[in-house]
Amino acid sequence: MLIDVHCHLQDEAFKEDLEKVIQKAKDAGVRAVITSTQNFSEIPEALRITTRYPNYVYLAVGCSPTLFDRREVEEIKEFIRENKDRIAGIGEVGLDYYWEKNRRELQVELFKEWIALANQLNLPLIVHSRSAGKYAIELLLSNPPGKVVMHAFDGKTGWAKIGEEAGFKFSIPTSIALSRQKEKLVEHLKIGSIMLETDSPCLGVLQGERNEPGNLKYVLENVSQIKKLPIQEAEKIITKTTLDFFSL
Ligand SMILES: [Zn+2]
Repeated sequence: MLIDVHCHLQDEAFKEDLEKVIQKAKDAGVRAVITSTQNFSEIPEALRITTRYPNYVYLAVGCSPTLFDRREVEEIKEFIRENKDRIAGIGEVGLDYYWEKNRRELQVELFKEWIALANQLNLPLIVHSRSAGKYAIELLLSNPPGKVVMHAFDGKTGWAKIGEEAGFKFSIPTSIALSRQKEKLVEHLKIGSIMLETDSPCLGVLQGERNEPGNLKYVLENVSQIKKLPIQEAEKIITKTTLDFFSL
């Protein structure tokens, strides 16, 4: 039983064949998928998908760290407040110093607001921290939310360990197949701190290829190999961590 804790099923890339993609995921042992939004306009399509696949696709609502339109940010927050019971988590939100090297202070300010909202509503926080791992962990430690999962963390292992000590979880993406940094991350984290994600349609096993939730099994294979655990054992622990973290 696998759970893809982070992907984007409302993406254009799935417009033509989502039905098949979901069936393939089911056939590959994926039991649940959390689709995350990044702006206000994605929410209706994401909602439609969660309604079409009840108890299979769950919704996380967030805001790209590079979305600075104050009105849109407030609209997203309002949607979250009004639909709290239909939402598995707030995300993705966070910091992105790769695509947006400037306006760091503004990103920090907005991220703090998302942390506050997650605390206020008692929802898990799904954190994006591209090229900003250290800064995101530091900020989270000084504004601690209840539940944090760092998605596709690309920072240093030392910072991940500091986050782990504070109880943060880390969702490991399909791109582990191509990334020594992700392998190292898994080597150093405890198995109990790990969840799995595809970030579909991004972060595919083969560069440039559309990713999909059915590829989650490859992440599990990599993780169980690195942790030297039988696949079923790794799967059991990871699923338990995920179900304790998200109320699905
Ligand atoms: Zn994502």
